[in-house]
Amino acid sequence: MQIPAYNPRPQYELLREQIESAATELLASGAYVLGPTVEKFERSVAEHLGCRHAIGVNSGTDALFIALLAAGIGRGDEVVTSPFTFFATAEAISLTGATPRFADIDPATFNVTAKTLEAACTDKTKALLPVHIFGQGADMAEINALAEQRGLRVIEDVAQAFGAYQGEKRLGSLGDAGAHSFYPTKNLGGFGDGGMITTNNDDIAEQCRLLRLHGSSKRDHHDLIGLNSRLDAMQAALLQVKLPQVDNWNNERKQIAATYNEHLADVEEITCPKVSEHGDHVYHQYTVRIANGKRDSVQKALAEQGIGSMVYYSVPVHKQPVYSALKYQCPVAEQVCAEVLSLPMWPGMGQENASRVAETVRASVS
Ligand SMILES: *Cc1c(COP(=O)(O)O)cnc(C)c1O
Repeated sequence: MQIPAYNPRPQYELLREQIESAATELLASGAYVLGPTVEKFERSVAEHLGCRHAIGVNSGTDALFIALLAAGIGRGDEVVTSPFTFFATAEAISLTGATPRFADIDPATFNVTAKTLEAACTDKTKALLPVHIFGQGADMAEINALAEQRGLRVIEDVAQAFGAYQGEKRLGSLGDAGAHSFYPTKNLGGFGDGGMITTNNDDIAEQCRLLRLHGSSKRDHHDLIGLNSRLDAMQAALLQVKLPQVDNWNNERKQIAATYNEHLADVEEITCPKVSEHGDHVYHQYTVRIANGKRDSVQKALAEQGIGSMVYYSVPVHKQPVYSALKYQCPVAEQVCAEVLSLPMWPGMGQENASRVAETVRASVS
């Protein structure tokens, strides 16, 4: 029996009838881009996450890019972010004309902290871009305090943490804006690309709405240079069906994580994910560290048993060829990249499969 690293199929099977009737209805509606279906989904997401505004866009990458532009980031500015993330986080900064600076991560949570962010700030720093990596939020209270003290904007990269709480609030409602992704493998995954910006700031929201639509507030009238980054109505229609299930799915992810913890906590060479005191972990990935250079052999042993796993991330962003000239050093991120392994994690995979994965990991390190 194969256990893939990720499988969106059980989510589809659970909601199959509703998803297929929503698709058919949308096809018959004739309104395929933005329009009432997208507006309804935007309102639903805003309500779900406790934000004043939600603006649907083409992808999580565009959500980051547009949120940064709307927050006034551009040429000559610097934005401090994590090197332990998907490349798009830094790419979005560079696309605005600004330069990314990289703050090292905490080895237990893989997140940036106010302390590491502050160490990377300069006079040119205009914004902080914490990434809520693997489904767990960076500590937004201390990050917002740092931003206030230095007069910086805060854009949250929530691509991996849809629905996660921090205190009574959800991620994406805590900074100036949050960028979400509906890429099929994310915690709220669509059936193609999609993204969303959330914000409580009316001006940022208005700018985002202009920027996603060619800088246009009304037909034949363009106030600024924007882009074509509209959310497809089909994605909105299908995501609308999935949205009410996300909290359940996130809870299921937590249960799978608990099973992994049970089996692996006492294995000397394995460090299980740490859940920090300031918030929730919705396990977009369940990522362990494997010591003594054994990561690759564990991954191979899993593959031999038909078990998928992934290395997120094998190279930190500051070591990517395009950024290597900036000569950043983030020793924790560099070491973590050599040790991490993400185990299968998807709603519907079941506790038995989780036990089998964990026991195979156990056997392969000893
Ligand atoms: C997936 C992801 C993105 C980009 O989202 P897309 O929808 O694929 O463009 C950005 N940041 C992080 C941390 C991600 O995981």
